Amino acid sequence: MSPDLARIIAMDTFDVRFPTSRELDGSDAMNPDPDYSAAYLVLRTDSPDELAGHGFTFTIGRGNDVQVAAIEALRSHVVGRSVDELCADPGLVSRSLVGDSQLRWLGPEKGVMHMAIGAVVNAVWDLAAKRQRKPLWKLLADADPEWLVSQVDFRYLTDALTPAEALDLLRRGKEGREEREDALLRKGYPAYTTSPGWLGYSDEKLARLAREAVAAGFAQIKLKVGADLDDDIRRCRVARSVVGPHVRMAIDANQRWNVDDAVAWVGALAEFDPYWIEEPTSPDDILGHAAIRDAVAPVKVATGEHVQNRIVFKQLLQAGAIDVLQLDAARVGGVNENLGILLLAAKFGVPVCPHAGGVGLCELVQHLSMFDYVALSRTTQDRVIEYVDHLHEHFTAPVVIRDGHYVAPTVPGFSADMERASLTAYTYPDGAFWVADRAAVPGPSAAEGSDDTPRDSLGVRA
Ligand SMILES: [Mg+2]
Repeated sequence: MSPDLARIIAMDTFDVRFPTSRELDGSDAMNPDPDYSAAYLVLRTDSPDELAGHGFTFTIGRGNDVQVAAIEALRSHVVGRSVDELCADPGLVSRSLVGDSQLRWLGPEKGVMHMAIGAVVNAVWDLAAKRQRKPLWKLLADADPEWLVSQVDFRYLTDALTPAEALDLLRRGKEGREEREDALLRKGYPAYTTSPGWLGYSDEKLARLAREAVAAGFAQIKLKVGADLDDDIRRCRVARSVVGPHVRMAIDANQRWNVDDAVAWVGALAEFDPYWIEEPTSPDDILGHAAIRDAVAPVKVATGEHVQNRIVFKQLLQAGAIDVLQLDAARVGGVNENLGILLLAAKFGVPVCPHAGGVGLCELVQHLSMFDYVALSRTTQDRVIEYVDHLHEHFTAPVVIRDGHYVAPTVPGFSADMERASLTAYTYPDGAFWVADRAAVPGPSAAEGSDDTPRDSLGVRA
């Protein structure tokens, strides 16, 4: 068969969970025991090139099965479709998924269903980039501005950003593109690391990891805060004393506070010169973020990993509520919606410092920042991609960090391919890892962190 007749013939899904809660990796004030998980899908085709589109969204354990079920609800929108058509215009699939007249009731454009849409849309982009034999960042950076604009859904955005303004931004983004692409390939894209700052780590581990981060070339670290003020003061003091005055130190409360608490708590940590306060309160509270920002300046306010769609980002920008926009590659409706969010940020002049970590989020989001630098914002000034040193070994083309920078990926696609052995071993509950885990500790709740033990309001097991 010639490749241009190829169709999507299957969407395989996987509930993949890693037992990260055992080491308190990823622990913060709201999520004390995450088991980093991926609701993962593979779009298979009948093309002789045997390329497949991989996509996923990230969860932290229980509920990953719900997320997989949401992805499966989208199957009929992609299976049977022409590969050529989808890859030439991933906006087609984005529009058809967002527009499903019955599934839309479960959102619209928010929550589990929207994350499922993002996973499927991202898998289509992965396939499109593989077929063009380009890493996704380069596919986007090489694309015609008109085509990129056609990929964005401007519904609910035009009071803040019109298609004509977006086109203008993208045309300007082309100026000097070659030099920036050279610089990206030479130097990479700046990263910061959250690895030292998980709430469950001892002071000794925090100090050691912070020291190692600076030695490895990171110019910014991040600490989780918000559970106990005395602990936070002590941990910020330890970290600041280790990294010195010039390394940026961000703090992240993971939505723990009311607006007043946020203002008071950040005030109490001000002597340690935090660079930004991340997720001080609910990601839906636009005016709350604006009030916090007014009160805590010059500490910057950042949010985005739980911002559900482009419309909330629009309002955060319109309200002057954030200094730093932290988009996430797998939270919203995929690359198409993230293009809209990058364009909004460019219009408002707010730097994008993406959320990453989890499972595979670093692998995905590097492509969006690199496109942003090469062909939209044209700068890496005050821009950094989060980096967490977890679970990269499960990917076939894991991120590479050199001197505190992400090395630009050159492998075609969206860097989403997980090793087949990892997919099968960590599939929950019947993969080899979980079967062995249950055998080692008899009883139905052996899968620690994935059990059903009652928890209090912060998720701590009762
Ligand atoms: Mg965060």
